[in-house]
Formats: sequence, structure tokens, C-alpha cells
Amino acid sequence: MTGWVVVAGLGPGSEAMVTPEVTAALEQATDIVGYIPYVARIAPREGLTLHPSDNRVELDRSRHALQMAEQGRRVVVVSSGDPGVFAMASALFEALEAGPQEWRALEIRVLPGITAMLAAAAAAGAPLGHDFCAINLSDNLKPWALIERRLRLAAQADFAMAFYNPRSASRPEGFARTLEVLRQECADARPVLFARNVSRPDQVLRIVPLDQTTPDMADMRTMVIVGNSATRVIDTPRGPVLYTPRSA
Ligand code: SAH
Repeated sequence: MTGWVVVAGLGPGSEAMVTPEVTAALEQATDIVGYIPYVARIAPREGLTLHPSDNRVELDRSRHALQMAEQGRRVVVVSSGDPGVFAMASALFEALEAGPQEWRALEIRVLPGITAMLAAAAAAGAPLGHDFCAINLSDNLKPWALIERRLRLAAQADFAMAFYNPRSASRPEGFARTLEVLRQECADARPVLFARNVSRPDQVLRIVPLDQTTPDMADMRTMVIVGNSATRVIDTPRGPVLYTPRSA
């Protein structure tokens, strides 16, 4: 048996948003590795071993996946959304770069998924219809000063912005500070989307003008999207639609 590693994105939550190639890889797998809630999305079956692990052990998890592939196992490392967006694909390559030379001969494939940013944008309309950027607001792996610098420059450059990991119980100040920086750089009426549990049964979307936003509107299950200076809201009987013109 020839082993391999696939790093797969499971999308934002809905089964309809798992791509057919990810489903096919999961069907061929002998082992699934990943963060506990993501592995919980995989149906158990005969011949498949699930290896759920805790948060923040991405490198151990990656080495484990590579070791199993070396032994001939077919390993799928699962991420939510897309595996290349603030997720396992980079961790896997970090482990590969630092690991034994033999690992480099292994077959490794990254299968994209629908990232939370795109699912949130689509659910609200088209807020990312022109130039935009994505920023991870977690300072677990980078200094807060760098986050704040990128945020301010992105706002000054008039990008629409998508924020991942906006606010956790262990670092509530970061998002409050984010809103302060945005208030310094953007007009009061700038629309901000709070999209929680996108594509799941308990999805909630809120569109709030910047000057009415409060830090508690976001948590770790929320994607925050800030429009650019031309982003606007169209009122329809089915609710508000948020969009950024293509010319902005
Ligand atoms: N690789 C993932 C992102 C991991 S970072 C992806 O591509 O989507 C985790 C952050 O993603 C969360 O804190 C939240 O900001 C966002 N997120 C993931 N799934 C989400 C969902 N269904 N609804 C809203 N935000 C989500």
C-alpha cells in the first residue's frame, strides 16, 4: 500500500458545501487527523481510524500524519473552510520542511474548501466584489502590533476587509481595539457584516454601521466583513443585501 497525505477543507459547515473531491478523498482514507470538532464531522466506518486532537497542536498533528503516510497509510488532515486559510496546510508544510528528507518523497495534496469569508460574503450579497483582504485577528502566532499595522494600512488603502478569529474569551481586547482603529480610519456609516455560524442551521447575519458596532457582536464563530468606502446596503422585502460595486 502506498501512503499519502491529503489536507482537505470541509467548508464552513453545511454538507452541501463539501466538494466532491474532498468526499472522494475521505472515502479512500484509512486515517483522519484534525481538531476535535472537525474530526467529529466525519462519519465513522470500518477501516477508518479517527485521530481527533486538541487545538494548538498543529505541528504534532502534522508530523503524525506524515509518519502514518510513511508507513503506507492514507491520511486526510481535515480543516474547516479552506485548509490553506489560517489552517492546517501551512502547518503540514512547516513539519515537512523541518522533518526527515524521506518525507519529501511522499504524495501530499491540498484540496481546497469554501472558506468562511466567501460563504459569509455570499450569504450577505457581494461585499467582496472589488479589492479586499483577509486578516486573522488572533495574536496567538504573531504580535498584535503587526495586526494593527496591517489593519490600519488596509483601511487607508480602502480595501474591503474580512476578519477571521475576531474575538475569543482569552483575548477580548483585540477586537475592541480593531473597532477603534476602524473608527479612526473609516466613516461612521461604513457597513460591517457580522456573520455567525454561516451555512449552519443557526446562521445569523447582522449588518451594522461602524459607529453602532460593539465588541460583543463578534465571537470565535463569527466572520466579520467590513465594506470599503463604496460598499452599500440595498433594502429588499427579503432583507438587506450588502454589496460593493465592481468599479469601486
Ligand atoms: N480554515 C478556516 C478558517 C479557520 S480560522 C476557513 O477557511 O474558513 C477560524 C475562524 O473562521 C473562526 O474564528 C471564524 O472567524 C471563521 N469561521 C469558520 N467557520 C465559520 C462559519 N461557519 N461561520 C462564521 N465564521 C466562521
